[in-house]
Amino acid sequence: MTTVRAWGARAAGAPLEPLSIERREPGPHDIELDVLFCGVCHSDVHQARDEWSGATFPMVPGHEIVGRVVRVGSAVTRFKPGDHAGVGCMVDACLACDPCHDHHEQCCERGPAFTYNSTEMDRVTPTHGGYSTRVVVRDHFALRIPDGLDLAAAAPLLCAGITTYSPLRQWNLRAGQRVGVVGLGGLGHMAVKFAASMGARVTVFSSSKGKEDDARRLGADDFVCTASPSAFGPLASKFDLLVDTVSAAHDYNAYLSTLRPFGTMVLVGAPAEPTGLHAFSLIPANRRLAGSMIGGIAETQEMLDYCGAHGIVADVERIAIQQINEAYARMLKSDVRYRFVIDLASLRDG
Ligand code: NAP
Ligand code: ZN
Repeated sequence: MTTVRAWGARAAGAPLEPLSIERREPGPHDIELDVLFCGVCHSDVHQARDEWSGATFPMVPGHEIVGRVVRVGSAVTRFKPGDHAGVGCMVDACLACDPCHDHHEQCCERGPAFTYNSTEMDRVTPTHGGYSTRVVVRDHFALRIPDGLDLAAAAPLLCAGITTYSPLRQWNLRAGQRVGVVGLGGLGHMAVKFAASMGARVTVFSSSKGKEDDARRLGADDFVCTASPSAFGPLASKFDLLVDTVSAAHDYNAYLSTLRPFGTMVLVGAPAEPTGLHAFSLIPANRRLAGSMIGGIAETQEMLDYCGAHGIVADVERIAIQQINEAYARMLKSDVRYRFVIDLASLRDG
């Protein structure tokens, strides 16, 4: 075991503060990384505040990790010391069940080991995330970062990237189709970039009037300010696909009315509170409501390679770990343009 510096929450809703955690010695199939950058996802905020319930503390969040490999186990062939590697929301799974065989480790029947606020597959050892100087991860769950991508701006691809790329692929988005992206935060801005790069016509639905210029710069063709009560009327039956990234409870029914016949609204945003759903928001026009969780490891690598080929990264605001509580407060006010990324040099040197 190695003692590692980290920042985390000692109790639900407590401000994040310096902590020490233990990392295991790398086994034959493990790689050990010096964490260089870690993105700040709204899931970190939900879990550190125990908004989804069942959280365990102390908690070291962070699942958008880019690091440098320092050690590899004897059976590791894909990485060597000095390489860059990424770690997303999962660090292990059974790799034996049907979903794992189908490359959907996020749907592992035994439940994946999530990167933090979870346990290793022994179901005893707590996992801790990337707000720390080092991580140790099973090699299957480490991703290659394409050359040429800025490492800090690539970190958010490990969660925000795959979570928005995957539904566009699952629902087979084609050039010329109309996509609505609901909420322009970390996930939303990646959804806009991906959908635009795939040739779709993109509309951003935002509660923040001031984000229109950014939405268009990111690749949106249209912008709808949802604060206006009359916003939805003219959009009835217009969209093939909606990707809803909003982190707080909101009315799904109004958005469903904007779907074309057989169109789908995919929920990726995960508000803690339930929302009322009207059967008649779905029945006419055979509309569909679906959910999607991150993506499998192979699809995450496909997404990273796609980003390498198309020069896609997140728009990031780099912070020191000492600014993390301020960053959480700003995310709760929808004031992020468009992903905070922690430079872990601030923890190594601070
Ligand atoms: P974020 O950067 O904080 O962005 C969320 C956006 O939602 C805000 O920028 C804001 O956009 C909108 N919003 C927030 N509060 C709102 C409110 N009260 N009413 C209307 N709109 C509001 O968050 P994120 O990191 O993108 O994460 C978004 C959600 O996805 C979170 O719930 C997170 O847990 C979830 N998530 C799910 C998965 C998955 O696998 N499904 C993976 C990662 C994250 P506007 O200012 O444009 O309205
Ligand atoms: Zn995330």
